[in-house]
Amino acid sequence: MFVDSHLHLDFDEFAHDRDAVLAKAAGLGIDAFVNIGIRVRDSGRVIAIAERYPNIFCTVGTLPHLADDEADVTAEEIISFTSHPKVVGIGEAGLDRLYGNADWETQQQVFAAHITAAQKTGLPLVIHSVREDETMSEMLRSAMAKQKFNFVVHAFSGGPRLLETTIDLGGYFGFGGLLTYADNDHIRHAAQIVPLDRILLETDSPSMVPAPLTGDRNEPANLVHTASLLADLRSINVDALARASTDNFYRLFSKAGRM
Ligand SMILES: [Zn+2]
Repeated sequence: MFVDSHLHLDFDEFAHDRDAVLAKAAGLGIDAFVNIGIRVRDSGRVIAIAERYPNIFCTVGTLPHLADDEADVTAEEIISFTSHPKVVGIGEAGLDRLYGNADWETQQQVFAAHITAAQKTGLPLVIHSVREDETMSEMLRSAMAKQKFNFVVHAFSGGPRLLETTIDLGGYFGFGGLLTYADNDHIRHAAQIVPLDRILLETDSPSMVPAPLTGDRNEPANLVHTASLLADLRSINVDALARASTDNFYRLFSKAGRM
């Protein structure tokens, strides 16, 4: 059925009712989840959740906002966590000019360490890229020219440059709540034209409640709202989108395996 390829179940927002949140999502056919890490040195948090549930996987990485805190993180340190069977990817990591107030040079340096970890492990890199298409595209192209790696641009919000780069380099596109917001015609445009075999679904819970829902907390059950909008945009039915995006997920996150 569906996979929520990017969310943060270890956040405090889910501390009191995580089992109920997961049960509700399962009732709607969302049957696998990737709990995304935001601090390499807190990887124990995401690994602990993944160990507790058979259908939850996790990644290890440093969110660009937190790059100053982990400025000295190395590819080797990131890689050290990937021997765990539930760690299926690297990230989220990247560049952020809008919300990220971490030092710009440090953001690039920390992101580069994550790219190296993805290259060395063969695990997919989960990229957070906001308002920085130029540097992101340059870093991805030059790293890819040296050694291939797999990646997804999560919560894709890029302009034409990052769209083109991601398509060219064989990257995947994560679509979630951003797709549903009134201002985001450029994201809906991207969602219509990218190849169907490069699309992943995600919620980024507890952030990014899809419109027209309201409330402070997003949750994985809300994936179905984004999925139905995306299916409409592509003039396919939701079952076809579910099948394609789930196939895509297991192709990219191959370590997660089929359950
Ligand atoms: Zn996230």
